[in-house]
Amino acid sequence: MGYNGDYLTKSGCIYEGIIMHEMLHTLGFWHEQSIPDRDSYVTINLDNVKAGQEHNFNKCGMFTVTTQGTSYDYNSLMHYDDKAFSSNGKPTITPKNPNVKIGQRNPLSPIDIQEVRLYYKCQ
Ligand SMILES: [Zn+2]
Repeated sequence: MGYNGDYLTKSGCIYEGIIMHEMLHTLGFWHEQSIPDRDSYVTINLDNVKAGQEHNFNKCGMFTVTTQGTSYDYNSLMHYDDKAFSSNGKPTITPKNPNVKIGQRNPLSPIDIQEVRLYYKCQ
């Protein structure tokens, strides 16, 4: 696990959320917006992404990643915020649902918890 620039634009009391986020990477979890069907849920605006950072918005292949049957989770700790890697202050990720916020770094979302349980076969 290396520094991947997730938090360049962040400040304040989100330290615990960052640790949880990085821990989920070490447990084998990908960024929420990397899952294969993400285009049904978000629009990626590559025009607003810093040059050289486009790879952060790559999708994983169907066989690399599974959501274990859970639905797309805008509220996931593993979701980038809307201006991640922005070159111009404009959104790089626009949720198709206008009423959601993305990029929270507070506790695990209910679906995050469900996925960890499923992945490690906890009841
Ligand atoms: Zn990350």
